[in-house]
Amino acid sequence: LFDFQGKHVTVAGLGVSGIPAAKVLHARGAVVTVVNDGDDARAREQAAELEALGITVRLGDGATLPEGTELIVTTPGWKPDKPLFLAAAKAGVPVWGDVELAWRLRGPGAAPWLAVTGTNGKTTTVQMLAAILTAAGLRTAAVGNIGVSLLDVVLGEEEYDVLAVELSSYQLHWAPSLRAHSAAVLNLAPDHLDWHGSMEAYAADKGRIYEGNRVACVYNVADKLTEGLVREADVEEGCRAIGFTLGTPAPSQLGVVDGILVDRAFVTDRQKNAQELAEVSDVRPPAPHNIANALAAAALARAFGVPAGAVREGLRAFRPDAHRITHVADLGQVAYVDDSKATNTHAAEASLAAYESIVWIAGGLAKGALFDELVAKSAKRLRGVVLIGADQALIRDALARHAPEVPVVALDRTDTGAMLQAVTEAKRLAQPGDTVLLAPACASMDMFTNYNQRGDAFAAAVRELGA
Ligand code: ADP
Repeated sequence: LFDFQGKHVTVAGLGVSGIPAAKVLHARGAVVTVVNDGDDARAREQAAELEALGITVRLGDGATLPEGTELIVTTPGWKPDKPLFLAAAKAGVPVWGDVELAWRLRGPGAAPWLAVTGTNGKTTTVQMLAAILTAAGLRTAAVGNIGVSLLDVVLGEEEYDVLAVELSSYQLHWAPSLRAHSAAVLNLAPDHLDWHGSMEAYAADKGRIYEGNRVACVYNVADKLTEGLVREADVEEGCRAIGFTLGTPAPSQLGVVDGILVDRAFVTDRQKNAQELAEVSDVRPPAPHNIANALAAAALARAFGVPAGAVREGLRAFRPDAHRITHVADLGQVAYVDDSKATNTHAAEASLAAYESIVWIAGGLAKGALFDELVAKSAKRLRGVVLIGADQALIRDALARHAPEVPVVALDRTDTGAMLQAVTEAKRLAQPGDTVLLAPACASMDMFTNYNQRGDAFAAAVRELGA
């Protein structure tokens, strides 16, 4: 166990990960200083609470490295090129994120981690994995970036056999000594590049999840970048590269044969060939990208020794969270589907690929994204498009270039009534058998508090039209 007694530790950033980190380090005998950029009323309140415990807090100065710092524990969101970290690198001071801290604080005999990252599908996959492990009778939880603090879990009373851990690229960047039992990178598409600096740096941070894996590195056969990361990783002897594919699996892969999820990686000698795990219809929703998520979850569970029957039972028990390809209603033979969680182009592309003929509701905050590839790939599935939100012109231009024949209704308003008008326009464009799909490919904060509220507004509008 790491000895913090008397160590001078700087915690970078107040907030959801900084405050608990500061408290734990203080309790373990470290001399803790918290540095924070902001100096508002809320920060002062939080600072007062920590100062009452004997922790030093410097508000309004997150850039200067406090004298004598031996270790920095940072909020994962802080960018690596901040002056604080440049100063730390110069002084040879290590930097840990919240995940690294949790990893170091695990007790002896702590539950191993099955870890998941990727640009999209992390939360879904981790939830599927937890459902499968639970079905196998294991004590487990879905934790990490999913919104359950690893520090809380690691230090908590509850005992686990194994953890299903979602990790973001930021968390991985700051987790140098993490060693998972097995890990999966689901897919890699440009995202958060402003933070990481480049696609190469982003991929390298994601690839950290494979370092030191003991049993299996799970990769996406259709995404060569993920396979490349496995090849570059330094793993324990005997650790295997396991692929998942929507096609027929090769040996050491999981895949799909005639509507059956099949394992050709973790098979006993007697079965040799393949082990059937579940049917495609056991996966909800049975969209292609979600089958891929299920295969990745199954691969990690199988790496942990879970029997085939539990994979099926777990997948059947799994219920997707709201606003992820949620079927809202059928009105006049038109299906209305809410994928408000599709907040980037890669996610929207996956959900558009799941339907044949679509009236697409898109737009919002683009976050610097480009829409040409998404529109070009999806053009033949589009019956029509309704655009909403601040950056809709970017999508309108891409449509003009790659799908000039598709009718587009551009709603030049961002008030709360816009969604009802959008759904009304979509209904007008739709024909029997079509799907009206909210998959905005953009963030929601120009019009809504978050993607949940955007999805709720869509569902409310659909209900109003159906009434
Ligand atoms: P994350 O936790 O990585 O943000 P989620 O499981 O919450 O991922 O899914 C976010 C959105 O990404 C979903 O609404 C869906 O549109 C899309 N998505 C889910 N899985 C995949 C996948 N494997 N590939 C591409 N897009 C996906």
